[in-house]
Amino acid sequence: MVQTIVILGGAVGGLHIAHALLKKNNKDIKVILVTKNSHFYWNLASVRAIVPNVIPDSEIFRPLSAALSRYPPESYELVIGTATSSDFSSKTVTVSLSSDAEPSSTRTLTYDHLVLATGARYADASTPWKADSSYEAVLSALHNTQSLASKAQHIVVAGAGATGIEVAGELGYEWGKTKEIVLLSAGSSLLGGDMVGPAAANELKKLNVSIKYDSRVVGSAKLDSGKTEIRLENGETIATDLYLATTGMVPNSEYVDARHLDADKKTVLVDEYLRVANVEGNNVWAVGDVVSKPRAGFMITQKQAASVAKNLELALAGKAPVVAKGPPVDILGCSVGRGRGAGRMNNFKLPSFGVWLAKGRTLGVQMVPGYIDGSVA
Ligand SMILES: Cc1cc2nc3c(=O)[nH]c(=O)nc-3n(C[C@H](O)[C@H](O)[C@H](O)COP(=O)(O)OP(=O)(O)OC[C@H]3O[C@@H](n4cnc5c(N)ncnc54)[C@H](O)[C@@H]3O)c2cc1C
Repeated sequence: MVQTIVILGGAVGGLHIAHALLKKNNKDIKVILVTKNSHFYWNLASVRAIVPNVIPDSEIFRPLSAALSRYPPESYELVIGTATSSDFSSKTVTVSLSSDAEPSSTRTLTYDHLVLATGARYADASTPWKADSSYEAVLSALHNTQSLASKAQHIVVAGAGATGIEVAGELGYEWGKTKEIVLLSAGSSLLGGDMVGPAAANELKKLNVSIKYDSRVVGSAKLDSGKTEIRLENGETIATDLYLATTGMVPNSEYVDARHLDADKKTVLVDEYLRVANVEGNNVWAVGDVVSKPRAGFMITQKQAASVAKNLELALAGKAPVVAKGPPVDILGCSVGRGRGAGRMNNFKLPSFGVWLAKGRTLGVQMVPGYIDGSVA
């Protein structure tokens, strides 16, 4: 009998698993990929794409239909919509469909195995850092940010994690000599005290980016003048033409019952096989930023996707799962503008040129075709 595998989320985790399963051409499975955005979005390059005319939209947005249409039509289904609830005992997921024809219709999907790959979003929905809404909405957020950044004379980037550093670096590279670019760090260092922080700060200074430490943002409001006023925890306020927040990652796990989630972080709890905790039958799996274990990251998501694809195959064959593998080394690399970077491999500092060569030169855009032709899996 045909087994149905429902995958929620069509980004690097979910699409990887869909390819891995469909490539096997197993006539006994059907894959249903459910996702909010009709396109695969290479969000790792969004930090550079906010500068106009540097990365064409077509290089970072590719239709998911193009990725799946290479497989027999009866082997898969692509559903554009949002998972709004789930019932792991009746093995069902309810999806709010994003069809133009039926904007408010819902559909209940029944599965044999379910994969949660719905990632995480940034608290400020106007930012283009993730594919967290429809293709049209994310594209519009990207174009709007490009337009606002071009016009702004003063830009504040909040959050001194890797995304904030990369955004500030791209702005500094393009406009550091003509606009004021400020990076706000909540603490007294960048990257939460990681050893890469001082090198990243040094690179940002070369691009005329000012860094304000101990500047945790507690709120922001639009002023009548069109500027945004940012309020800091220490009582200070900053008025800016463009405020770009890279803070506050929220797991997209609202459709999952609380007993499967971390009580504080709301991330999905998994075991060493990436099976979701407290599920009778062990037929629900999770990967990527919705798990954020050991942390949210592309390479971690890729490795987890490969492990879940393998474990699904084993489960369908009635075999025991294997322990999920992580990346062999811990790499943290921040691209800083289009010419330099800062990073480490485990505890070894990487040279700026090396980070640029491995990451900053392209921001991985050359990997996108592999997600469309399936060679990534
Ligand atoms: C700007 C930026 C730069 C980055 N650079 C790096 C880097 O250089 N190196 C690195 O290792 N990591 C990097 N990351 C992290 C990396 O992007 C993530 O770890 C990776 O994207 C996680 O993929 P994911 O598949 O788990 O989910 P996400 O990318 O979060 O995507 C989730 C998908 O699920 C869909 N979805 C969400 N909710 C629902 C729902 N309820 N129902 C159906 N679909 C839903 C969304 O539309 C989306 O398609 C970066 C992140 C950002 C934001």
